[in-house]
Amino acid sequence: MKFHVGKRTFKASRIFCIGRNYPGHVKEMQNQFPKKPVIFQKPPTSLVPAGGKIRFPQHGNILQHEVEVVVLIGKKGRAESAREALSFIAGISLGIDLTLRDLQGHLKAKGLPWEIAKAFDQSAPIGDFRSYDTSIDLTDIAFSCRINGEVRQQGKTGDMIFPIETLVIAVSNVWELHPGDLIYTGTPAGVGLLHPGDHIQADSDLLGSFLWKVV
Ligand code: ZN
Repeated sequence: MKFHVGKRTFKASRIFCIGRNYPGHVKEMQNQFPKKPVIFQKPPTSLVPAGGKIRFPQHGNILQHEVEVVVLIGKKGRAESAREALSFIAGISLGIDLTLRDLQGHLKAKGLPWEIAKAFDQSAPIGDFRSYDTSIDLTDIAFSCRINGEVRQQGKTGDMIFPIETLVIAVSNVWELHPGDLIYTGTPAGVGLLHPGDHIQADSDLLGSFLWKVV
């Protein structure tokens, strides 16, 4: 998949996702508050562009939506300060971190990796990117998720436990960043069930409105 931001085109590279980054979601999942960002990855084949169809996965039953602000990395390297971190961000959008919650629960209970619950095909719907510049306040983005028109999740990036700059630094401490990398920055409270036939809509006044259908 390719992303167009202004005059630049990026080929999708790695997809980093942050777990447990909003207090409301940590509480609803009865998880512990993290001391450092919780990072996992999905393969690029997880991506589904806006307007696409998502096949209900066949290896689990409880499919949940997590709406998230997503940043697109625009250059290679590692970020060490907050200001430097901002210079790595080329674009910003909304995405959905789809999760098979029944499978994830079993895996967590056994201390096993989450991949099959989080990183399956089409598990990362992604909207169109708008270009990022520092006139955009990353701590003041309001966004929501509607299922069949009904609001299920409402978030504000100012509620993040670890702000976006910290996430960019944390990821780049482990993996040198590349143009085309994405970071899904965590979900607010309100994650809920999806069924075949459902329409998922991610909305933000700043970032746009994106729709997918579960089939
Ligand atoms: Zn998530």
